Amino acid sequence: MRCALVSRTLDLRGYLGAEIGRFADRIEIVDHRSDGKDADVRLAVAWHPPDDAFERYPNLQAVCSIGAGVDNIIACPSLRPGIEVVRVVDPAQAQMMSGFVAWHVIGHQRRFATYLGQQRDRIWQRLSQRHAQDVPVAILGYGEIGQRVAADLSQLGFPVLVWSRTAKPAPPPIRGFHGPSGLAAMLDETEVLVNLLPLTQETEGILNRELFNRMRRGGYLVQVGRGEHLVDEDLLAALESGQLDGAALDVFATEPLAPAHPFWRHPKIVVTPHDASDVRIEAVAATLVAAADAIGAGQRPPYAIDRNRGY
Ligand code: NDP
Repeated sequence: MRCALVSRTLDLRGYLGAEIGRFADRIEIVDHRSDGKDADVRLAVAWHPPDDAFERYPNLQAVCSIGAGVDNIIACPSLRPGIEVVRVVDPAQAQMMSGFVAWHVIGHQRRFATYLGQQRDRIWQRLSQRHAQDVPVAILGYGEIGQRVAADLSQLGFPVLVWSRTAKPAPPPIRGFHGPSGLAAMLDETEVLVNLLPLTQETEGILNRELFNRMRRGGYLVQVGRGEHLVDEDLLAALESGQLDGAALDVFATEPLAPAHPFWRHPKIVVTPHDASDVRIEAVAATLVAAADAIGAGQRPPYAIDRNRGY
């Protein structure tokens, strides 16, 4: 099967590297070109595709992402309605994300930022400490990654609340909430908020003033979903007023984050460059091979998302 590599931000051939050789007997990889048509291409791997990218492929059946999120592919105007969009599900990525989130949740609980400041000023002073059980953590998104993060934080002793679109059973002591009324009820109890939602029309701008104001005063935000979930000015205002005590931001509406952006130098914000967790290249390759096999057999590829839902 012929598969095109389509990205305006990444050298996908270099990214896939030696993995290409491992499935070369089943999948012929071709680089995307902007001119002409390629009727033999039935599959594509894409990351931030150019707007007109898929016009070139009249018989394209599925587009594979190279990550858990597919928002950058769905946003492409030339993606026709019938084309399946496939995401990568990688347990190792969920584990890595869990460590990243735990780092920031514990950093807030144990007041690491204050200790760093004290070290800078050579101040030897113990701070009063709080137990994990006194710091409720809520997770927006209880999917493949959110479930792993919730289980690990619960294991560490934090009261964990989770929120999804549809009702989902959560193993006690984790408590599940869903829908708009569930969100409001959950936020009333929330000190640390972890955003692990996909970016959709429904979730864009969800991290806003109204949401921050419902949280416990002095709360903390761990933002690892997508930059467009956050209203930047509302976060700055919540930090200014003390409604939030800090935020760890890994994703931004414009990446790389512009040098002049106020987040860079804000004393209560930790910035990381969209690096919370990566999928393994092997997982991307396995997803691609499974998609090729499914298409060849006339079936729906595994991990094809619901295009109507947007995730
Ligand atoms: P999943 O699709 O497995 O899970 C998504 C979860 O979000 C589900 O629980 C879903 O609810 C919930 N959800 C979706 N829409 C809504 C809504 N409108 N209201 C309430 N809940 C909603 O995704 P993953 O766990 O694999 O990944 C989540 C996201 O994490 C990715 O889309 C990406 O944005 C981000 N990510 C960031 C990375 C980084 O490095 N910063 C790395 C990897 C992922 P339901 O269960 O009812 O369907």
